[in-house]
Amino acid sequence: MRTYKANYHTHCDLCKHAKGSIEDYVLKAIEHGFDAIGITDHAPFDFLNERSVRMTSEEYPEYIRQLKHAIVHYLDFILIYRGLEIEYFNGYHKHYESLLEHLDYLILGQHYIEKEGELLSVYKIKSIEDMQIYKETLIKAMHTGYFKIIAHPDIFLINQGQISDEMKAISREIIQTAKKTDTILEINANGFRKKKHQVDGQYYMAYPRIEFWKIVKEENARAMINADAHDPNQLVDQAIELAYEFARHLSIAVEEELVLD
Ligand SMILES: [Zn+2]
Ligand SMILES: [Zn+2]
Repeated sequence: MRTYKANYHTHCDLCKHAKGSIEDYVLKAIEHGFDAIGITDHAPFDFLNERSVRMTSEEYPEYIRQLKHAIVHYLDFILIYRGLEIEYFNGYHKHYESLLEHLDYLILGQHYIEKEGELLSVYKIKSIEDMQIYKETLIKAMHTGYFKIIAHPDIFLINQGQISDEMKAISREIIQTAKKTDTILEINANGFRKKKHQVDGQYYMAYPRIEFWKIVKEENARAMINADAHDPNQLVDQAIELAYEFARHLSIAVEEELVLD
């Protein structure tokens, strides 16, 4: 039984690919009796403007305004946290720090890696070399202390069928760093909403990948289930149930309340 109901990975229509305003998500969460909700739309990041659909820097004050409004308005009903989901790249520490001035936390959602000066979508990661870059990026990010949660940390396995020992070793390094830096790894329920994809005639989930989460259990790292909601109805849906089933199956004790310092 869930004693504390919350979701800490929630988008809104400012990113232009999610449905509903911040208020729509807050109202839906209240309707379902949530104790807390963390709003974490895709962060403005001028560096990625050409690649990725999200709010612009000009729209960011509006995001903060809507958050403030919701916090004040629904104070008696639900705890609302201010967050963003963002990628990590070297040389942008000032950007993370200035965002954090008005926020409670950041989620690392590494959707791109930097390879030979070019951006490569994580959905295209296939080689061990690319996986190493992904791993190094996450490890660096975790050591900065800017990120409370890592969204879908296992996304780098997306094009894989069998998970090799080398891939498991990469997974373990990510997981051990999360443990060392006290970062929470996210079982992303969106993976259960996506179609399975075919590799070598077999069907696999994009994420979560069980091989990764078995190591999370072995290492006893921190874990949490999040909706990654792009629609208010995704705050409570079958995918969330399946994600809890997945964690139970692996005996992973997921955290339900985000404690912020
Ligand atoms: Zn999104
Ligand atoms: Zn997300």
